[in-house]
Amino acid sequence: MNAPLKNRLFHDAKTQISAEAAAFAARPKQLFIDNTFRDAVDGGVFASEDPATGIKICDFAAATSSDVDAAVRSSHDAFENRWRDTTPAARAALMLGLANLLTEHVDELAELESLDNGKPLSVTRSLDIPFAIEIIRYYAGWATKLTGKTFGLSLASHDYHGYTLRAPIGVVAGIIPWNYPFLQAAFKLGPALAAGCTMILKPAEQTPLTAIRLAELIVEAGFPKGVVNILTGFGRITGAALVDHPLVRKVSFTGSTQVGKMLVQAASGNLKRVSLELGGKSPLIIFADADLDVAILAAANAIFGNSGQVCVAGSRLFVERPIYDKVMQGIIDHAQTLRIGAGLNEDTDLGPLVSAVQRNRVAGYVEEGRKAGAEIVLGGEPLDGPGYFYPPTVLLGTTPDMVVQREEIFGPVLCSTPFDSAELVLPLADHDEYGLAASIWTRDLSTAHMMARKIGAGAVWVNCHGVFDPHLPFGGFKQSGWGQELAQEGVEAYTSVKSVTMKL
Ligand code: ADP
Repeated sequence: MNAPLKNRLFHDAKTQISAEAAAFAARPKQLFIDNTFRDAVDGGVFASEDPATGIKICDFAAATSSDVDAAVRSSHDAFENRWRDTTPAARAALMLGLANLLTEHVDELAELESLDNGKPLSVTRSLDIPFAIEIIRYYAGWATKLTGKTFGLSLASHDYHGYTLRAPIGVVAGIIPWNYPFLQAAFKLGPALAAGCTMILKPAEQTPLTAIRLAELIVEAGFPKGVVNILTGFGRITGAALVDHPLVRKVSFTGSTQVGKMLVQAASGNLKRVSLELGGKSPLIIFADADLDVAILAAANAIFGNSGQVCVAGSRLFVERPIYDKVMQGIIDHAQTLRIGAGLNEDTDLGPLVSAVQRNRVAGYVEEGRKAGAEIVLGGEPLDGPGYFYPPTVLLGTTPDMVVQREEIFGPVLCSTPFDSAELVLPLADHDEYGLAASIWTRDLSTAHMMARKIGAGAVWVNCHGVFDPHLPFGGFKQSGWGQELAQEGVEAYTSVKSVTMKL
């Protein structure tokens, strides 16, 4: 099984960007503090680039500790004097107003996201931006539905009346990665604002563009100043200063496990709450009785979608031995039809990786797999520039001891392994460190439920992969994270429970 790479890389026209989005993209960007835009105190800037060409989009202000301090004080003031005591109904109305406003700007936001991140416009338009808006809308509903409990005390129920309240935690830093920039902003802002917290959002330095457009729309939607502040800058400077600041009460982080661990230590200064959505190395397990046409397509999408830059990417594929060759051939055949190009090109299925660093990282992993004895049957070499393109890549015969099977590659690189039974695949599929997600493909109900119960992952999909819903909690086991996002669990994570006891 050795397949030539047939994918075509095209840099030619059909690139879509409206005049409005282009004008916004070209302007230098400032920090968003107190509903105003301002330069960094020290005047520092950094550039974001179009990963399809390597060409600079524009400069962004790079926040340092004095900017962080100004933003935190603004957020603190907004929390103490405005947002905490805004009625839940008023908070909900503002959030719904924002969701409606964002809906009017879906196309523009989708173009900006594709430009900055490189992902296909068809995806940003149909998934990233609309799903982000649905999350804001969903959490607007929660603003008016957060309640405590009322109960008699267990030892003296007639003498005391007890109840609990859910108090917002306070100023929260939302630190987000580059793979779903706008969607991740909504994952953080939706529950934080609904709960009555104020938030300082720090987008990733690779993809800050849509966050600044969001800032403009937050002002237009009428949010009081300081409820949302947005700071662009580097992780080790802006992010670290946020994690360090004593008035920040919680850090909600999505990113690498390595940075997550550093952040836990840094947050211990004032014992901030920390919630973490970290890396994964998710198995996709296909049994011989599965609907193979559906499973093959889903397995390909699970690793090549978003160019593999997905925390729940189905990066480890386990296929029951009798159907292994058929499934792998099906995935390769499908991968060869994917059109690689700039995200802004309407015909693109697979965009570039986000940066040169990421492309080199992915290439390095594939080389390591090759040296360790994996058979590369598709792709395996970066595509010639400009831009940071890496083709769909399929590795056969990978084993759990190989680095490519152990570490998160975050690229379109599929590691595959045949298996002989449910009992034998479980120890292979269960990762020692990661436990973010898994999917199981079978028509047998017992196998499906047994595997779902036994596999060590926070999200298990049966006969589907990567299905998210605002009302389904999402969070990792093991070193894939602390806590959950989305759903009731997600908003409660921005509150503290206060118990009130009254002597009758
Ligand atoms: P990736 O490896 O995918 O780039 P990171 O975990 O490095 O992911 O980055 C995710 C987010 O964390 C980004 O917004 C980044 O700026 C931020 N970040 C990186 N390092 C730190 C740090 N030391 N403290 C706080 N935030 C950080």
